[in-house]
Amino acid sequence: MLQSSRKPILEAPRAHPEFIVTILSEQCDGCELCLEFCPRDVLEIDLDTFNSRMLHPAVVVKPDDCVGCQQCERICPSVSIFVTEIQEGMNHE
Ligand code: SF4
Ligand code: SF4
Repeated sequence: MLQSSRKPILEAPRAHPEFIVTILSEQCDGCELCLEFCPRDVLEIDLDTFNSRMLHPAVVVKPDDCVGCQQCERICPSVSIFVTEIQEGMNHE
């Protein structure tokens, strides 16, 4: 098959958007509401960690499974969890 030297004008669309879930562990009450509402089991309570109020905070355990529905962000009573869509060219390391 012949190789084309033409380059596409636009980048190919991503298969699916990717998201970063950020948890402010000092602010988190460990109430587990975000775990209950997450449809993809992305979150867990970190029983090995205490914040300064001696509460176990939520942590992200399956970051690649997040679909960006923001259920966790909306339900969190202490506004401790944020969901951000990764933009092309964004450095999220
Ligand atoms: S945005 Fe949705 S899928 Fe992602 S962690 Fe929050 S509840 Fe789970
Ligand atoms: S809903 Fe908010 S306060 Fe409760 S465990 Fe999740 S991040 Fe922490």
